[in-house]
Amino acid sequence: MSSVKDHCGIFGIFNASDAARRAYYGLHALQHRGQESAGIVTSTFDEQRGQPVMPVYKDFGLVLDVFDDNSLFEERLMGDSAIGHTRYSTSGSADNRMNIQPFVVHYHDGNIALAHNGNLSNAREIRKAFSDRGTLFQTTSDSELILHLIAQSRREQQLDQIIDALTQIEGAFSLVLLTDDRLIAVRDPNGFRPLALGRIDDPHREGTTYCVASETCAFDILNAEYVRDVAPGEVLIIDRESAKTGDFTSVQLAQRHGVSQCIFEYVYFSRPDSKIFGEMVDKVRRKIGKQMAHESPVPSVPEGEKKPIVISVPDSSNTAALGFTTECQKLGHECRYEIGLIRNHYVGRTFIAPGQDRREMKVRSKYNTVEGVLRDRTVVVVDDSIVRGTTARQLVQMLHDAGAKEVHLRIASPAVISPCFYGMDFPSTDELLANQFDDVEEMTNWLGVASLAYLSTDGLMKAVHAANESERGYCNACFTANYPVPVEMGVKKEENEWTQSANAGQ
Ligand code: AMP
Repeated sequence: MSSVKDHCGIFGIFNASDAARRAYYGLHALQHRGQESAGIVTSTFDEQRGQPVMPVYKDFGLVLDVFDDNSLFEERLMGDSAIGHTRYSTSGSADNRMNIQPFVVHYHDGNIALAHNGNLSNAREIRKAFSDRGTLFQTTSDSELILHLIAQSRREQQLDQIIDALTQIEGAFSLVLLTDDRLIAVRDPNGFRPLALGRIDDPHREGTTYCVASETCAFDILNAEYVRDVAPGEVLIIDRESAKTGDFTSVQLAQRHGVSQCIFEYVYFSRPDSKIFGEMVDKVRRKIGKQMAHESPVPSVPEGEKKPIVISVPDSSNTAALGFTTECQKLGHECRYEIGLIRNHYVGRTFIAPGQDRREMKVRSKYNTVEGVLRDRTVVVVDDSIVRGTTARQLVQMLHDAGAKEVHLRIASPAVISPCFYGMDFPSTDELLANQFDDVEEMTNWLGVASLAYLSTDGLMKAVHAANESERGYCNACFTANYPVPVEMGVKKEENEWTQSANAGQ
């Protein structure tokens, strides 16, 4: 019964002055990874009760809205270590407050809090084993299972209990765990989701402040320095001693299926100003754009006609569009980069009037066209990906309405043909545009474009390897259906969604 999808941003900080406030800024920088809910847990000592406690504050909404009361930082979220989480919006889960992370529990060995980015591929099996033993669940999230595995481990030491739990889960999990005396950062052996380690030298504090985050843009906002990635399969333990000496204890989880970092993080999800999997997203996306220029450059126009303009769909395809344009020019294809679409950043939930097309309003409330740029031009739109195709179709219509003579579409990734079981939120197989048509020509007609070209899978892999020279491999299952970690038999996307909405009503 895997249910809630966890495509999220996670952050942790240890030995920090103002830990909660720093976590808040870190989460704010990771807001693009999840807008549904946000939460922070800290670790502190309660003098009155004479024991360590973990205050928590979390709610639905954006980071700045959830934490809009300064007293949260002054009076409630005390302590010098913290973890935080931002959750991606998915249907169904939106109704269940219990699913908001981080989760925090008190068990026989103290307090423990957890924030998870990813999806466990054997969650159903684990959940069933627990249910059969009578375990009661508070949430519909995979992540809660990790806490049960820790609490029910037969090992004596807390660290061993955690390792014991981690060896029983499979799939995608980048985690930050907070105990009463440690911050523990974990990346699954495949390294599906990113996680990096940073440091802050605070002159007012003894020892070094360490932080971990899904993306390094969370370090920049805090003036933290990137140290390195948490390696695939690494359990990185940060305690008082490491803060003093800079030496960490690391445990390596067994490698069963090779390393397969999510390539879609580079294509779409991460911010271009982040370093993930050891390389800047900006650099990778430029290379992807350049590769596309070699495979499917701008069309040539007849002598005497205005040269084509290239536009991006802000913000996710800006960088690929830049790489595409400069390489087209270098290859002798005349074109110019222009800003033809403007994005409204303040799009939350939109209230659609009855009878209005929901998807159309969603796109229109997010983008508008710049008519002066587009009128009578051959327009080449670079987008990062097509999932359902509704965004692209609507945008093409808007570009035509703004007077574009011809619209050509260049997609900076291959066709998405398969759902993701490792934490990326894609619709079911049938809903993916590429599965609804027999060939690109049919899609071209449906989208209403003069030409449509996807980047080849080989081209994508070539571009990513050219930008990031590390030998580590990637998961491209959404484009190829080659799943690096077996997915539980019979767990289909549709089934997940059914359980999700059923649970949401509880
Ligand atoms: P659509 O084809 O209408 O489903 O929307 C595709 C666009 O949404 C892409 O161009 C991306 O910018 C963005 N996108 C890609 N993947 C996702 C995802 N997993 N969740 C939300 N948005 C996405």
